[in-house]
Amino acid sequence: MNESILIVEDEDPIREMLIYSLTKEGFKVEQADSVKQAKDFITHRIPDLILLDWMLPGVSGVDFARSLRSDLLTRTVPIIMLTAKGAEADKVKALDTGADDYITKPFSTKELLARIRAVFRRTASEDLTQVLEIPGLLVDPSTCQVIAGKNNINLSPTEFRLLYFFISHPEKVFSRTQLLDKIWGENIYVEERTVDVHIRRLRKNLGTFGLDKNIQTVRSFGYKFSLK
Ligand code: CA
Repeated sequence: MNESILIVEDEDPIREMLIYSLTKEGFKVEQADSVKQAKDFITHRIPDLILLDWMLPGVSGVDFARSLRSDLLTRTVPIIMLTAKGAEADKVKALDTGADDYITKPFSTKELLARIRAVFRRTASEDLTQVLEIPGLLVDPSTCQVIAGKNNINLSPTEFRLLYFFISHPEKVFSRTQLLDKIWGENIYVEERTVDVHIRRLRKNLGTFGLDKNIQTVRSFGYKFSLK
């Protein structure tokens, strides 16, 4: 079955270009020109991926990404943010909303397709079957749930994979490049900084439950997950 992609973009020429390119590649493409329309669509069907424009009239893409992440039905749907902003701080902000990746306008169709495929490859290659448990935390891949005591922790798909990977390899140090290969797949477009942003977000989400300190920075090398 073809993967479905929901495009949320208010600029007609860009939306039409995306519809054309993605349909040609065999994706099942759906479209919305506002967050309201996207929400209406999602109540009927959950797409396999959302391409979300940052600047939208009314509710912004950033706010919508956050609400998608906090909703049980959509929190595991991969999001790629389309942004006109190239500044480093904005890239970080895009990932900070829980988006899995971002692409800066103007972008080439080739680059966008590479990123979309990388996201789908990650989802497909996952062999997350085992429920993992460490003191204070239970990670269930069948439901993508992370439970700390009686609380659910909302994580984006990337954060979930990152945590799952760490817990599967406790005390082992991984470089950013290794984490990129393991979690993101071999995608030449993803910068090493992306790892730092996702780690920071994961720590923040685990922080509420005092588990952020388990993810340790190993200076000039990378990160490890420690149970100590
Ligand atoms: Ca726009």
